[in-house]
Amino acid sequence: MTKTLLFSFTMAMTTSCGAQEPASPKKHHIEGGFTNNYYHLDKGFSDVTKWWWERTTPEPKFFPLAKNDPAFLKSNKTEPTITWVGHSTFLIQIDGINILTDPHFTERASPVSFAGPKRYTQPGLSLDDLPQIDFVIISHDHYDHLDLTTVKALFDRQPENPPVFFTGLKVKARFEAEGITSAQEYDWWESTEIKGFNLHCVPVQHFSGRSLTDRNSTLWCGWIIERNGYQIFFGGDTGYSKDFKDIHDKFGDMDLSLIPVGAYDPRWFMASHHVNPEEAIQIHRDLNSKLSIGMHWGTFILTDEPVDEPPVRLAKGMQAIGPDSASFTVMQHGETRILNLNTSKKTEEVAEIEESK
Ligand code: ZN
Ligand code: ZN
Repeated sequence: MTKTLLFSFTMAMTTSCGAQEPASPKKHHIEGGFTNNYYHLDKGFSDVTKWWWERTTPEPKFFPLAKNDPAFLKSNKTEPTITWVGHSTFLIQIDGINILTDPHFTERASPVSFAGPKRYTQPGLSLDDLPQIDFVIISHDHYDHLDLTTVKALFDRQPENPPVFFTGLKVKARFEAEGITSAQEYDWWESTEIKGFNLHCVPVQHFSGRSLTDRNSTLWCGWIIERNGYQIFFGGDTGYSKDFKDIHDKFGDMDLSLIPVGAYDPRWFMASHHVNPEEAIQIHRDLNSKLSIGMHWGTFILTDEPVDEPPVRLAKGMQAIGPDSASFTVMQHGETRILNLNTSKKTEEVAEIEESK
């Protein structure tokens, strides 16, 4: 793709504007859209220009796909599993319920099929490999997280019983424009229930938009997926902020956290909206997460750091803080792991019972 095309694409992701609407009393609701909870630097046209003309785009590298077992995943009703498809897409299976996060199975993270960031690592599972999906968590409307071709395919492959798509406010219209009628949208701190799961929409520090005129007009978010006390945090895209301590204050320790570790350089441009691996570790600690998995790397080239740097820096950072370095790692594309559903809360309850004996 030419530099001009890439530049136009990036401007669509970063230029400010928006439709006019009445102001809301909620702090993060502002005229025409939404804003973050805490101090952050928004970048303007001159910053985008500077980045694009100074940048050195890294080379893609080959990441081998792990072997997995689609037949097992399709029939699995008992084993709790997580499979990393790539970027921010995970298949999570708990008690026979199948969940996807930010599903992206196509070639580009772009508004057009002929240009924009191209996938250099193929999805670790294909759409055909997937079991019937019960629900889908969407963090925000950037092209690398909301791929309308993918969500339409997910909707169409289950005509009798389509997956429910959970999004932040104002994103539902993007689904309805595609004829997808099973989307629901939520504000930060709102909750809902589905098939024995509690879902909580939570704040993260990012932005939204898919064109030159819609920046921050839809809400970005993270999600907590909870079942029987087992809590999974899905961070979507985020910079570092006090939001994570707020989330911990409200929900307590996480059993599993899916945290972005890539798309962070150059820091002068990316820091407010994308954490680096060291900040991702701070999120893992803020959430007191028993286990965390790094995502948002190794799939599309969006920023300037070497594509294989995030897991190296993550491992180094975890080794520096102590003995539990295995509690925050990355997975191979396509890798499936069995989850241990013994929750922190359950462990505490057991300890209390033991003490009272
Ligand atoms: Zn984003
Ligand atoms: Zn992203």
